[in-house]
Amino acid sequence: AVQNNPHTTLVTQTAPITNATHGGRAKCLQRLVRLDLPVPRTVALSFDAVHNIAAGELPDIAGVVAQFSQDALLCVRPSSEDPDWGGPGAVLNIGINDRLFDQFSTSMGEAPAAALYTRFVQSYAIHVARLDPDMFDDVEGDGREALQETLRAYEAETEEEFPQDPATQLAGVLRSMAREWEGTTARLLRQAKGAPADAGLGLVVQQMAFGVGAGLSGSGVLQLVDSETGSPQITGRYLSQSQGRDALEGDADAVYLTRDPRGPSLEELAPNAFAELQTHARLMRERLREEMQVEFVIDDGDLHILDGVRVARSSRAAVRIAVALADDGIISQQEALMRVQPRTLTELLHRQIDTGTKRDVIGRGIAASPGAATGRIVFSATEAQASNARAEPCILVRRETSPEDIRGMHAAHAVLTERGGITSHAAVIGRGIGVPCVVGASNMRFNLSKQQIIAADGRVFNAGDEITLDGTTGQVLAGAAKLHEAALDDTFNRLMAWAEDAADIGIRANADTPADAQTARNFNAHGIGLCRTEHMFFEPGRLTVMREMIFAETGSDRRAVLERLLPMQREDFIQLFAIMQGQPVCIRLFDPPLHEFLPTSKTGQRELADALGLKLSDVTRRIEAMSEYNPMLGLRGVRLGVTVPEIYEMQARAIFEATIEASRDGDPVVPEIMIPLVTARREVELVKTAVDAIAAAVRTEREADFTYRLGVMVETPRAALRAGEIAPNCAFLSFGTNDLTQMTYGLSRDDAGRFMSDYVQQGVYPEDPFHMLDIDGVGELLQLGAERGRAAQPDVTLSICGEHGGNPESIAFCRAAGFDYVSCSPFRVPVARLAAAQLAI
Ligand code: PEP
Ligand code: MG
Repeated sequence: AVQNNPHTTLVTQTAPITNATHGGRAKCLQRLVRLDLPVPRTVALSFDAVHNIAAGELPDIAGVVAQFSQDALLCVRPSSEDPDWGGPGAVLNIGINDRLFDQFSTSMGEAPAAALYTRFVQSYAIHVARLDPDMFDDVEGDGREALQETLRAYEAETEEEFPQDPATQLAGVLRSMAREWEGTTARLLRQAKGAPADAGLGLVVQQMAFGVGAGLSGSGVLQLVDSETGSPQITGRYLSQSQGRDALEGDADAVYLTRDPRGPSLEELAPNAFAELQTHARLMRERLREEMQVEFVIDDGDLHILDGVRVARSSRAAVRIAVALADDGIISQQEALMRVQPRTLTELLHRQIDTGTKRDVIGRGIAASPGAATGRIVFSATEAQASNARAEPCILVRRETSPEDIRGMHAAHAVLTERGGITSHAAVIGRGIGVPCVVGASNMRFNLSKQQIIAADGRVFNAGDEITLDGTTGQVLAGAAKLHEAALDDTFNRLMAWAEDAADIGIRANADTPADAQTARNFNAHGIGLCRTEHMFFEPGRLTVMREMIFAETGSDRRAVLERLLPMQREDFIQLFAIMQGQPVCIRLFDPPLHEFLPTSKTGQRELADALGLKLSDVTRRIEAMSEYNPMLGLRGVRLGVTVPEIYEMQARAIFEATIEASRDGDPVVPEIMIPLVTARREVELVKTAVDAIAAAVRTEREADFTYRLGVMVETPRAALRAGEIAPNCAFLSFGTNDLTQMTYGLSRDDAGRFMSDYVQQGVYPEDPFHMLDIDGVGELLQLGAERGRAAQPDVTLSICGEHGGNPESIAFCRAAGFDYVSCSPFRVPVARLAAAQLAI
């Protein structure tokens, strides 16, 4: 009957079983059967069968029971299409009744027989009869008494005898599991893991190998690698006289698998079964082409393989496992690349505290964003930005963060919050921008009005005190700690090298400082795609000169001050060129409005007046005169280049002089100079004329030759629309999708956070367009700009350098549009490279 019914299928080598019809577990069991492993007899119920069961239509249950030996006990386990979607828990020992209890009492002893029966009655009571689990709390022991008490409790509560017919029991279990899957909670849970709304559940009914009773009996799991590191190491547990996953619950009497000084091992207890188990595990790895955890039972000395599941793994282990499978020729390098989720790489890419460090732990919270950092405590986003401007590492401490804190979070080396969970604002943003973050540090006290945090042991830490945050463990430590850069171990590097070979779009990094450039270089970025030069002016010693330049009355005064900034800029560029060793470096000319550099507080203005020898009233008047209603749409970018040309001239000179310097003992450097915020062809012509003139002057003065590439940042809608007339003056067009998104939507990138979550919740936008490129709107501008630019200038280099550059989705878009490269923050380079490789495979 079973073979004739397509919905209930005996698992044989040739049965028509697929992931999509019967689920992953059923398919895996069939593979194990094909490998001739000692798998107990199994019947698979298809998604349709289970769906019908939930709707009240049972298959031929007696026919299913008839597939198994007389008096066999059965277990039922879930088999969803993707094991990650979960499913109801397994139910064991179906079929046991008073008659079999008597029979087993003779064959295996009364106590184990009573334990089996009790266990089944309880799980039937809870899952099928839906009784309260608490009702069995008072049942003591596990012998005959306990069994009788359990049966009595069941009968009292249901006013029915406990069903004795195996088919009735099985029908009840199948129905309860099928209905559980259709319930709202289970549905929401699996949808959160990416399951489609109509995801199906299969069920497998398997004959039990007992694991309890006479002789050597027990159950356990074994895998060939360590889940944390991915290194080869036999790990797992075995528990005598046990069933299911008992060996993994609590560690009461479980034994080790391999010989271990800490206690007895399966290797010693049952050397033959252990050897056989290892052989099976290796065969499974090779033929299932995956690291598998083997679920096994030893029943009176005989080994049975109940199941194999993909080994759970950390991100680090995922990389090592994929690379090892490829090295052993089990999968191809390309398949290894496909097996690692680009986003999970982020976890391997952060600083870690040296393991030898003595940790002075002052608090603990949820490890929300990996990596570690040391810095001085600040209590507001503004202070974090100020601290960053002084190049002083800081830890931003808040009760919780909100979108207003984002700039401060970028500026901070780590973020600590009193409240919040793993999906709180601080946690999500921290992970997104790669800033270590600990949230919900509830065992510390936060006294924000006094600007203090108080450790669990009463120690008080004030603003300015140094602490270390470990976002990988959730610990807060007093003082500084020795930190290691990201773990770029050999396996990781090899996977990245394969990705590099496979990918067909370039990956550059956005890097403003030599430290960023070094990180980019470590990750083998194909150059710098965006160096935001204004960040260089925030460094100590430069800000005052910068302000003096802003205050200059005439062009020649301004030039005189810029003379003093020139050597500093030149030094910055020499370093960048040296670090990037001949890789292209794209330097963006000055972009922000000048007033961003001026002090807003009265004290700051007084200090500035002092430094410049001006009257305070002159300073405040000048600052007021420069203020704008809409600074992001005001005098910034190329508009400064056109109206205050001295700044771009100084920068061009610094770039060219650094070029000559850096080319002196190596291959010639070819710098790329990028003009921000362009809207019209004439802007480019004006800047180009000025920059060409500086190049000519430097060549003559230095008696040295060099070339350079001038390009435009397409970040206004008009630049994208008019790319056809802009491109002829350009060697490259780089799309700045941050501003382009801001201007396409007319949505301030600094203020949108206040209402973005409402917008997303109400379905106005599917996602925050500053995080996920808006393919429909902004994407169309990219497409138009690319097409028009390329039509006018066929060999123009096309790229994207906004924050979207590192997202797998935007990379797919840019690749399809024929872009040459994407540029993203240095820590995103490996993620982007792997995503690019996966697209090309
Ligand atoms: C952009 O606008 O996309 C960009 C990369 O520049 P910034 O973020 O500096 O404005
Ligand atoms: Mg911009």
